[in-house]
Amino acid sequence: MNIIIFGPPGAGKGTQAKFLVKKLNSFQVSTGDMLRDEIKKDTDIGKKIINCMNNGKFVDDEIVNKLLEQIIFDSKKKNKLIFDGYPRTIKQAKTLESLLDKSNQKLKYIFFLNVNKDSIIKRIEKRKIQEKRSDDDANTILKRYDIYMKETKPILNFYSSKKEFHEIDGSHKIDEISSKINDIINV
Ligand code: AMP
Repeated sequence: MNIIIFGPPGAGKGTQAKFLVKKLNSFQVSTGDMLRDEIKKDTDIGKKIINCMNNGKFVDDEIVNKLLEQIIFDSKKKNKLIFDGYPRTIKQAKTLESLLDKSNQKLKYIFFLNVNKDSIIKRIEKRKIQEKRSDDDANTILKRYDIYMKETKPILNFYSSKKEFHEIDGSHKIDEISSKINDIINV
């Protein structure tokens, strides 16, 4: 089954995506990880996006969509996709719908992890120390949160009326959130 996890930066999307990957024997589609990988490998894409990423801004759709297409049309991964960090805009949500349509796939669940700004700042600061993420300095966190409110939060209206949509309180402990997701997917 294909699943989207979305919510503010630092809400724990990556952690829950990994939980689902393991449970459902699926594949995590983290555009953030893919983009960081391009920077690490110092590819042409990596060189183009490094400034954007370090400023907490969105990378161009053209670049992100190309990386995404490779995964969506990979037959080994068909109907085993856990999206984390994509879509981030209504435009990306529409692109995703069309790519899934073209590849004959459907979304089964859309999980919105809802967490308030204070908890997020605390969590990202912690992650900064543990994972040494270059794009996670304090300034970037705030910029990313503001971009989220402006660009990504409106996706809520796009998804919330769909039957696949579920809102989950992301302020709970990791295991408690996983357990709620577990109850919903019930496999
Ligand atoms: P993440 O690891 O999902 O928090 O993403 C880290 C950074 O990667 C973001 O702040 C953006 O600069 C970039 N990025 C990740 N996913 C996307 C996306 N779907 N569209 C545009 N930029 C993205």
